[in-house]
Parts: sequence; structure tokens; C-alpha cells
Amino acid sequence: MSTSTNTTELDAVTAVHDQVVAAGDGALVAVPAGGELRIVDTHGNQAVDTLLYDANDIANRYSAFDTVREQRAVYLTEGSRLLSLRCDELAVISADTCGRHDTVGGACSQESNVIRYGEHTRHQHACRQTFLRYGATAGIGQRELGHNINFFMNVPVDPSGGLQFADGLSGAGKYVQLRASRDILVLISNCPQLNNPCNGWDPTPVRLLGWWPR
Ligand SMILES: [Zn+2]
Repeated sequence: MSTSTNTTELDAVTAVHDQVVAAGDGALVAVPAGGELRIVDTHGNQAVDTLLYDANDIANRYSAFDTVREQRAVYLTEGSRLLSLRCDELAVISADTCGRHDTVGGACSQESNVIRYGEHTRHQHACRQTFLRYGATAGIGQRELGHNINFFMNVPVDPSGGLQFADGLSGAGKYVQLRASRDILVLISNCPQLNNPCNGWDPTPVRLLGWWPR
């Protein structure tokens, strides 16, 4: 009998954590080592901006650069090891029914909105505010915000190295799942962006499901 969890067979009814994150809202979830956290794109085409931290040392946070370099690939999918600034493995993508996730496009902020979309967007809510709001209870402030993961977001890199924010590949009910390699904090902003196609021009809720080791 196998001792490993068949991650794709975990049933929502057995989840010990079950949370709907409204469009534009956020969450902070503590996932113990060995725990599985599934992020479900309930309506499709919703970017879920995510930061990971070592729960015992928030300075040891997710590093997009180290993750991309060590896996020698730009996109994230099943099997991707999500590394910290110290190259510790924080989590692994244990299941993925979408197939592609971005970690180079960054999170939206009021400042980036103004630069990209104009002064009239300055007061629109942005992921950076959500990160700060939900991170505060764990001591996560401006200095602890690094480059993030955009689950379900499609940022293709063209042959010349150019980036674009493209229409998403995800669909209703698709999910990505993380297996924590140590005790971690998962800080989520369910992106409120209205000015590019990352949310299909219509931000929608996502569902978080967690299974922790007994
Ligand atoms: Zn955003």
C-alpha cells in the first residue's frame, strides 16, 4: 500500500479548511508541513496573487527568481518546487488541472495601475493593499512583500523574450494544489484588477480547500 497521498483524489467533504475568498478580497492561511492547500478557480479566468512564507521565519519568503532559475523554466505547474530566498523548498505544486501559472508578472498596486492605465485608476483597489491588510496579523509588512505567484494567470513569454498579459487558460472548477514542505503561511490576494484581461474583466470568487496531516 502506498504511503503517499493521491492528491487529486482528496475530496472537498473531508477538507479541514474550506473558505470562499470573494472577488477582490484576500486570505492568510497557515498550512502545516505535509498539508495540502487547493485553490479552486470557481468561475474561471481569475488571477490569484500569492505569496508564501516560512511560518517560523517570515524573512524566509518565496523567491520567484530562485524558483525559475532552479527549475529552468518560466511557468509554474505540477511538480514545480516553490523556493525561498534561501533556496529552501516552501511547497511543491502537487496537482494542477489548469496547467500554467505565472510568477514573473508581479502583483498590481495603485502605483503600477497609474503607470499602466492612467491617473483615473489611482484609487482602485489593488493586490498590494490586500497583501498588507491580510499579512499584518502575521507581521508581514511592506518589507516582506516580494515577487509573487499569479495562479491561473497567463503571461506568455514570446520567442524574443517579451511578456504580455494575455487572456487566461483557466476555466470554471480548475484548481492548483500546494503541498507544504514545511510549516508555511500562504498570503492570497484574489486580484481585483479591472484594467487588463487577467481576470477576464470580471473578478470572481475562489475557494480554498485544505487537508492537513493527522
Ligand atoms: Zn492584482
